[in-house]
Amino acid sequence: MSSDLLERLRAIAGPEHVLTGDAAGEFTHDATFMEHDLLAVVRPAGTDEVAAAVAACAETGTPVVARGSGTSLVGGPVPLAGGVVVSLDRLTGLEVDVANTVAVAGAGVITRQLDEAANAHGLMYPPDPASVELSTIGGNVACNSGGLRCVKYGVTADYVVGLTVVLADGQVLRLGGRLRKRSSGYRLMQLFIGSEGTLGIVTEVVVKLVPLPRHQATAMVGFRSVEAAGAAVSRMLAAGHLPAAVELLDRATLELVREKLPPGFEPDLAAVLIVEQDGNDEEFVQLELMRMVELLDGVGDRIAQSSLERERLWDARRTFGKVLMAMPHNFFAEDVAVPIGAIPEMARRIERLAAETGLRIVTVGHVGDGNLHPTLLFDEGQRHLVSGAAARIFRDAIELGGTISAEHGLGALKRDHAEAEHGSLAMGMMRQLKGMLDPAGILNPHKVLPERPPDDEFLNRIPGFLQPAPSGRGRSQEGV
Ligand SMILES: Cc1cc2nc3c(=O)[nH]c(=O)nc-3n(C[C@H](O)[C@H](O)[C@H](O)COP(=O)(O)OP(=O)(O)OC[C@H]3O[C@@H](n4cnc5c(N)ncnc54)[C@H](O)[C@@H]3O)c2cc1C
Repeated sequence: MSSDLLERLRAIAGPEHVLTGDAAGEFTHDATFMEHDLLAVVRPAGTDEVAAAVAACAETGTPVVARGSGTSLVGGPVPLAGGVVVSLDRLTGLEVDVANTVAVAGAGVITRQLDEAANAHGLMYPPDPASVELSTIGGNVACNSGGLRCVKYGVTADYVVGLTVVLADGQVLRLGGRLRKRSSGYRLMQLFIGSEGTLGIVTEVVVKLVPLPRHQATAMVGFRSVEAAGAAVSRMLAAGHLPAAVELLDRATLELVREKLPPGFEPDLAAVLIVEQDGNDEEFVQLELMRMVELLDGVGDRIAQSSLERERLWDARRTFGKVLMAMPHNFFAEDVAVPIGAIPEMARRIERLAAETGLRIVTVGHVGDGNLHPTLLFDEGQRHLVSGAAARIFRDAIELGGTISAEHGLGALKRDHAEAEHGSLAMGMMRQLKGMLDPAGILNPHKVLPERPPDDEFLNRIPGFLQPAPSGRGRSQEGV
């Protein structure tokens, strides 16, 4: 049976675009510790080939997992039931339609390339995950990704106006188009955005573009506590100021990137905020930033006087992921969000957790969205503490009216905690939708929908967490 399927896939995409064995190795894992064997990887050239490959898998009941660049932090593209990985990396067509201020992109287009193509026409595609250099627009749509600019500009779902989706039986569904407004029928497009490859495979995306602002102004503001920084953000937003970005780095993060702080900047800080404003009127942008800095009312601040200084201020945030990867410790990155007014309380709870467990928890976050990434650092002797601590952060976020995943998705890592957030009625509806769109359950099995009640052992049960995987890929996560 599987050799027949392989022959069909080779006939569809060409033999050189069907990978097996060692050649398929990099498709067995994502950016987490998770990995799983697979039957084959197919690299179709377009929607028709994706549809034919999915139809062939459907006929044989073979699991199908869509894959962009594999930067998921929740095990999303890991083929947990084996089967066929459909890599979208050859779907790289890209058109900037200036007259309609939209871009039409193949699912495999890298997010940064989409933005840069828009920039060449004085336009911008705002959602900018920190993985923007690597992630694909198809992966961004599948995860409803966010990023640094999303506080002002919104997340991926706010930009998608058209989608081409291959359904579980190989049919091709075309939704929306190059228009910005529609009030006709149910919003089916939104159903596929954030569905993490469990309802269909996105092959083409139409996104809105906005004018590229001509000027930016950036500042760094220090605080004596994370709570004070959180309260300051809440105060600034409530006063009617909407920054282009506002990022939090806590004391533990600052210790990792200390040498990236501006020279002479107050050394004994519990948190800093990097705040940015953008626009077309340079004077207004500067004034607006100064007003925001005043309102934030920190214990020290630095306003960048040149684009070089701006880049330096952002360096501390950008360096964080790289510094983590170079550390001997393993780490587990959370992705919670709470209502903006609850940020100080969430910060207090994270600090209490660190004090009680002895785990080093470093927190960065897109704090203007209430989105915090508390990252648990641990050595081998502390590994057994991580699952319980991570589950406690989930519970705290939910208790404060928040979410366990603001932008990374649920994947396999967080799926069992989904019902605690959404409730049984909503989860029941999600299961019905999955049953309707993928009755045989072949699309990305074991993702998103819970398979057992949530508990403190969820990480310990995932193969590869307590025992390193046979391939020796050791790290728990590779970035935030
Ligand atoms: C260093 C680092 C920083 C990050 N920073 C951020 C951040 O700031 N904000 C943020 O939101 N995320 C962030 N992420 C997470 C990740 O980059 C995003 O989730 C991204 O959207 C995944 O894109 P990808 O192309 O790598 O998709 P993959 O990892 O390949 O897949 C992700 C999920 O989407 C599904 N999928 C992929 N392509 C398709 C498709 N065409 N159709 C249907 N389903 C598909 C997969 O099956 C999987 O479930 C970060 C990750 C890393 C490693």
